[in-house]
Amino acid sequence: MHGIDVAARLAAMAQRAREQGIDGVLLTPGPDLRYAIGYDAIPLERLTCLVVRASGECLLVVPRLELLAAQASPAGNVALEIRTWDEGDDPYALVASLLPATAKVALDNHMWAEKVLHLREAMPGVTQSLAGPVIASLRMRKDEAERAALVAAGAAIDSVHELVPQFLRAGRTEREVGADISDAILQAGHEVVDFVIVASGPNSASPHHEVSDRVLTEGDAVVVDIGGTMPSGYCSDSTRTYAIGDPGEEFLAAYAVLQRAQEEAVRSARAGVTCASIDAAARDLLVSAGLGELFIHRTGHGIGLETHEEPYIVAGNDLVVEPGMAFSIEPGFYLEGRFGARIEDIVIATDDGVIVANTRPHDLVVIA
Ligand code: ZN
Ligand code: ZN
Repeated sequence: MHGIDVAARLAAMAQRAREQGIDGVLLTPGPDLRYAIGYDAIPLERLTCLVVRASGECLLVVPRLELLAAQASPAGNVALEIRTWDEGDDPYALVASLLPATAKVALDNHMWAEKVLHLREAMPGVTQSLAGPVIASLRMRKDEAERAALVAAGAAIDSVHELVPQFLRAGRTEREVGADISDAILQAGHEVVDFVIVASGPNSASPHHEVSDRVLTEGDAVVVDIGGTMPSGYCSDSTRTYAIGDPGEEFLAAYAVLQRAQEEAVRSARAGVTCASIDAAARDLLVSAGLGELFIHRTGHGIGLETHEEPYIVAGNDLVVEPGMAFSIEPGFYLEGRFGARIEDIVIATDDGVIVANTRPHDLVVIA
């Protein structure tokens, strides 16, 4: 993504580290590294590691053969020192030499265990902790460019849902429909297809069912939950529920409650309320309609460079929503052996409400 202010992000990270008594933050390839310096490095066995020191001095340690790739990323445009290591060198000793022997070091939550243990060996006097508390609070608050990237991702996945009714036909399998959807996700501008859920009939009662060889049948509810990653690095994630013919009175009555619950939760979301209160806004309606037992997951998750990240919209999370926080609102109901449904939009909090990144209608789409 263009417009990453690498120097500002590194300075903010160093400040968080100081506030938390951490001497250095070590990031390896993954979403945290991409967030920090815009470098979308491939996770490999050779160590690439950004060292963010609490003093504010930062260094990127890379294998020599990755130097050109690192320089081509936004990290190459700022005064970030890049230190290369050659085949045969010990990169862990190099990282250890950059920090005090008894430092408190926060490690990327996504770091491979192999690297965590090599670092522990190279720095026996160091205290290791997770970097999540340093970085999540920064990544949660999306800046203008990130908000625009999420809105663009939302528009792209909406354009795929617009095509879904023409893929869904009685007699086709979930897998065939899923293949068409995967093609459409790429066609819509995503760089990667992250997941395709086509859950039909009884399969719709399993929230994370993907696809199977089940043949779509008259009367099926079909939950279609799809997402991908845009070239910006930002993810889409949206669910709509479809029906092949008439899904029956019981389903339709529950779906009507679900639709109100989802819309009520979106209405309740804004800066200043807690994550728990947004979950409750959706859950209370389902509970009072006798569907509470069937709503078996949290209402939502944060989204950005990862499909699932903080903040989580769940009971007990008293985190107060701030402007720029982006998350899904996706209540559902799941009746084992029978049917299920879910409606999911991504929203971005503002002071007086939310920007809704997904704008497809919520009504059940009945395929004649
Ligand atoms: Zn989803
Ligand atoms: Zn989701």
